[in-house]
Amino acid sequence: MTRHDPDDLWREFPRTAVEFEERFASEEDCRAFWIRARWGDEPACARCEGTSIWWIRDDTAFECAECGHQTSLTSGTILQKMRKPLKMWFRAVFEISTHRTGISAKDLQRIMGFGSYKTAWSWLHKLRAALLREDGEPLGPFVQMDEALVGGKGGRTRNSSSSPQKLMGESASPTPTI
Ligand SMILES: [Zn+2]
Repeated sequence: MTRHDPDDLWREFPRTAVEFEERFASEEDCRAFWIRARWGDEPACARCEGTSIWWIRDDTAFECAECGHQTSLTSGTILQKMRKPLKMWFRAVFEISTHRTGISAKDLQRIMGFGSYKTAWSWLHKLRAALLREDGEPLGPFVQMDEALVGGKGGRTRNSSSSPQKLMGESASPTPTI
């Protein structure tokens, strides 16, 4: 079975605000992108990998027709149990990936309209740790399983010696925006 490579899709993640608005105008656009990034053509049951499914919970999860297991769109990824719309996460990913060296939690709070600095800080650190890799492919890990992010099985952690900590500090240097 050929393995779908989410990196191919993430390489096409919008690089400009105009492109972002066009491609991710609705939650449904984001959902379709997420599904392709995670599964390729069609979502598969997390337990048996069956692809006969029906959607539940406002289309944020699906139930397997084979075994009855329920899989959330975000289960097993860094967005697991996060209750915000994908569009908000995608926006944050966009902001962080386009201000890669300079965005601060304060910036993110302002851009996203978060009520609290703490929320902005936790989003920033969660996403930044997932997005940045030394090999310069910034977005693939966003959709990958937690265990791959922490260097466990999954086989896609190419820099097992890299330390997430050094990527997580607040950057004091502002980056000029376009
Ligand atoms: Zn199943």
